[in-house]
Amino acid sequence: MTAKLLSGRAIAETVREELRKMAAAYQERHGRAAGLAVVTIGTRPASDVYVRQLLREAERVGVRGDLVALPDDIDDEGLRAGLKALNADDSVQGVLAQAPLPPHLDARVVAEVMSPRKDIDGISLRSAGNLFLRYPSFVPATCAAVVELLDRYEIPLAGQRVTIVGASNTVGKPLAFMLLSRDATVTVCHIHTRSVSQWTRQSDIVIVAAGKANLLTADMVRTGATVVDVGINVVAEGGIVGDVAFAEVADVAGAITPVPGGVGPLTPLMALRQLLQADTLWSLDS
Ligand code: NAD
Repeated sequence: MTAKLLSGRAIAETVREELRKMAAAYQERHGRAAGLAVVTIGTRPASDVYVRQLLREAERVGVRGDLVALPDDIDDEGLRAGLKALNADDSVQGVLAQAPLPPHLDARVVAEVMSPRKDIDGISLRSAGNLFLRYPSFVPATCAAVVELLDRYEIPLAGQRVTIVGASNTVGKPLAFMLLSRDATVTVCHIHTRSVSQWTRQSDIVIVAAGKANLLTADMVRTGATVVDVGINVVAEGGIVGDVAFAEVADVAGAITPVPGGVGPLTPLMALRQLLQADTLWSLDS
């Protein structure tokens, strides 16, 4: 392997230490710890792992974490009522609704009802609009983690050619707008893109968030490029791999994130950082 390893795990403790200071300052300003509410609906093994990770990180940095477990058969109205109660609860500064929702629920309920002031995963309509218009905004924590990793390893963004493989509302699209606002030239590929490699091969930075193991192979990467792997794929033998064929790409790339240990460890920390910034970020009436 010739590429430099961009390790989220290695920088997580530095970020945690910064968050502990922010949590202490919050406590000083308000006379109580900042509060996080994580809304779950039924049991979903894949995202339950993230929920546990988020609550554990909250405890480690000094944020009070509450699990709001809604029943599997809750309907849109019940979800709406649950979110409204959290919007009105002054002891809660940040709300994260576990995604994806069960198929019988309408994801728009969360996007429309979640208070933008508490939207620490940047999924509300207001957050999306702010990001699009380049106003201060909460952003999806995964996207914040990607940018944090690149910044901490001093990978420049301005003027760079970046290709993102994946165009979802939670990763690819918001990340494209974040990188655009950092003056990168951004291409977004998706399942209908005719030749993904044509775009990735031209890029200084390739970010893959598609959910397909081994999607990015060495022949798709320019020598010396930076490769960020957001993918999480559970393998039959147990454990997880990303979307990048790590061993071969690491011999071509200049820098690369591992899976696990790359973007993943920073994601809950970015949600918590936004929670701790909530009282200073917003000057909204709503
Ligand atoms: P999604 O299924 O909502 O979107 C996948 C996107 O990839 C779509 O735009 C699709 O068109 C595109 N795509 C799929 N196959 C493709 C292919 N062969 N070529 C080109 N484009 C292709 O997924 P998502 O929620 O955006 O998540 C993407 C991946 O990132 C998943 O593996 C998920 O588990 C992971 N993820 C990681 C974190 C983290 O913190 N590390 C957070 C969220 C999601």
